[in-house]
Amino acid sequence: MEMPLFVPTHSLDLDAPSVPSSFAILADSIPVMIWKTDQQGKRIFFNEAWLSFTGRSLQEECGDGWISDIHPDDVEQYLFTYRLALQHQQPFHAEYRLHHHSGAYRWVFVTGKPQYHSNQYTGYVGSTIDITDRKQTEERLESYKQRLEIAQYAGGIGTLEWNLNTNQIWCSEEQLHLFGLHPQLFSGKFEQIEQIILPSDHRLFIETINRDCATHKDCDIEYRILHKDTTLRWIKTQGKFFYTRRGEPLRFIGISYDITKQKQTEQMLRFKAESNRILSHSFRYKKTLRELAKTTVTSIADWCSIDMIHDDGSTDYVALAHADKHKVAIVNRFRKVRHHLFEQDSETAKDLRQGKTLFFPLVTEQFLQHHVADHSRLRFLQRLNLTSLLIVPIQIKGHTIGTISLATTDTHQRFDEQSVEITQQFASSVALAIENATLYEELSAQKERLQNVVANVSGVVWEGEGELGKEHTTFVSPFAKRMVGFELDEWYAHEGFWLRLVHPEDTTRVVGYIHSLFTKRTHGIFSYRWITKKGKIIWIQSYVSALRNEEGERIGIRFVNVDITGRMEIERRKDDFISMASHELKTPLTSIKVFNEVLLQLPELTKNKQTRTYLLHMDRQIDHLTTLVRELLDVTKIQAGKLQLNKSDFSLHNLAKETIDVLQTTTQHHHMRLVDHAHIHIYADRDRIGQVLTNLISNAIKYSPESEIIQISIEKDEKYVHISVKDKGIGIAPEHIDKIFDRFYRVFDATDQTFPGLGIGLYISLGIIKRHKGTIDVRSTYGKGSTFRVTLPL
Ligand code: ADP
Repeated sequence: MEMPLFVPTHSLDLDAPSVPSSFAILADSIPVMIWKTDQQGKRIFFNEAWLSFTGRSLQEECGDGWISDIHPDDVEQYLFTYRLALQHQQPFHAEYRLHHHSGAYRWVFVTGKPQYHSNQYTGYVGSTIDITDRKQTEERLESYKQRLEIAQYAGGIGTLEWNLNTNQIWCSEEQLHLFGLHPQLFSGKFEQIEQIILPSDHRLFIETINRDCATHKDCDIEYRILHKDTTLRWIKTQGKFFYTRRGEPLRFIGISYDITKQKQTEQMLRFKAESNRILSHSFRYKKTLRELAKTTVTSIADWCSIDMIHDDGSTDYVALAHADKHKVAIVNRFRKVRHHLFEQDSETAKDLRQGKTLFFPLVTEQFLQHHVADHSRLRFLQRLNLTSLLIVPIQIKGHTIGTISLATTDTHQRFDEQSVEITQQFASSVALAIENATLYEELSAQKERLQNVVANVSGVVWEGEGELGKEHTTFVSPFAKRMVGFELDEWYAHEGFWLRLVHPEDTTRVVGYIHSLFTKRTHGIFSYRWITKKGKIIWIQSYVSALRNEEGERIGIRFVNVDITGRMEIERRKDDFISMASHELKTPLTSIKVFNEVLLQLPELTKNKQTRTYLLHMDRQIDHLTTLVRELLDVTKIQAGKLQLNKSDFSLHNLAKETIDVLQTTTQHHHMRLVDHAHIHIYADRDRIGQVLTNLISNAIKYSPESEIIQISIEKDEKYVHISVKDKGIGIAPEHIDKIFDRFYRVFDATDQTFPGLGIGLYISLGIIKRHKGTIDVRSTYGKGSTFRVTLPL
């Protein structure tokens, strides 16, 4: 408080009861209100300043007149103080409201002092000053202070002032409330505050304060206290140090507030972010879980254990972390013997298996004794010093596969609803990660297996996306380098690289094949030639299939190419042999045929019935053999592209009729029907077309042992004539359809029906028809019959 202005009375020569003119003159000349009493305390003098303040005369004021100028509310208190002082001749001071000449009351501060002259009491001299302005400021300050206190209270902000010399601390009510200190029990000693700070935070707290004080920095410190309600609170204190002119620290003034919620939210968010990062990072889930457990103990818990529950209810922990390393050892030792926290058949363990979250915000001694029957387990848990416990099941498709156990221990932190929610979300993410990891592991194993297979296949596995012939390589197996010599990079670098390898003579056929393949089916097998980097020609067999997107659109091709050059060589030698053998057989066969005919004409031989039968039988066998050799020769000719045609104009109807007539003699069981809508002449090789018809009708007979009707139809349109042979026989399974026109291809039927043949009839027929620029196609239903259709251009 500001010191009032005292009138320097000692230097004056005051004598009672009269007021010397020297005093009056002096008093009148100063702006402070001055008054004087006689020995009885009666006012005998008021200076100019007083009179002009009250607006009254000296006569009106002297005696007791001045009393009526005092505010009615203040008069009693003031006169009491005044009279008491006078009675004991004591100095006094007081504040009261004095009537101003303007009509309003103004606050004044009065001081009075007894006066002595030669040790003789002479009366009082006093001064009165106008303090209205100060009073108003003070009032404003007071109301401001009150408002501030209300605001601080509402905002939970405490204020404190710490005297660094005395080490005394003054705390606002709210500050004490924050610290959980009782106002009556607070000694004001700094040590008392130090005691409530969590021991693990204490050092940093003191260090920070000392450093900030030494460096003249604003102080901003976060620390944990143990509140009297046994909860752990995060407190933030911000403030300033004040120093003497010489720089010695004088005091600290600061504000504090509770940031526990904010800290928990921050921790939770940090934990969430970190756990998500870890979860999305790795597919090795055991490692991931161990990392997660570590993250947990640095953020939201002091102890974390992630356990897997097996089908038989036994558990196995995969991750364990404790903020305190020594405790990990305790837990590890315990786990070796007891596995899970609760007995396997306890209600608690059952609840967990059923997917219930177990949440114990405050673990007390009674709690442990109630929940844990097993003695050593109980001792272990007691040693862990749990504060709060939270166990959340990890579930995959409604099945509990494990648990996440979180506990707080010495930090006294407690889990709340938010912790439960976050941990449950965490458990779902962990479940997902485990599921993904399991899938990923399976996938990786499969991929590895596949990669090994692909890498070890002695062939080129290739995949490419894009337009046919312009595909960019998306995969090519390493064997490609060995097979064709080109570096794998070259495959990847050029669009449609595979087509560059194809022998120019085969390009059109290959592209045409693939093109037509994908209009009908998804895959096929065909052979063609490649030219290697060194210019060598190799035969390859391609298994080709379409790559499709999710919509089923074809986006590329996959080839599995095998080098069949060796096989082709054997094939060629086989062809050579067949060609040579059939040529060699042809001449002696012709001679045998001629000799047999001669023998048949010798009456001395044929008159013996049995001899004649044998000779006729021999003749038929020679014909059969001749057909066989002729067919083999045809195969060789077709192979070499040397099939000669002897074209003439002839009636197709007549040819069909003749063929049917001949073949009808070979079977009694079947009935052949000719349906001719065309009745046309065509220009072609009559024998060869006849050969084709014979082959198709013979097959129809051969492969329809159970049915009678074989229908041969002839139709034509503007450009083509179509000859169809339809039977209701055994039919052809779809997987064979493409191959029956291949050389020596025969269907081996699972039904164990064996039919004689070499598998060259259709090959020759196709060869003949192709030479006529026609086509043969087949439609067949397995078990129901087949229709072979020859199309010839007109
Ligand atoms: P094959 O001498 O074996 O008859 P082909 O070249 O004439 O030789 O025929 C090849 C294969 O096609 C036969 O082995 C047979 O499985 C099948 N085939 C041909 N024609 C028919 C048909 N009409 N019905 C069922 N299968 C047939």
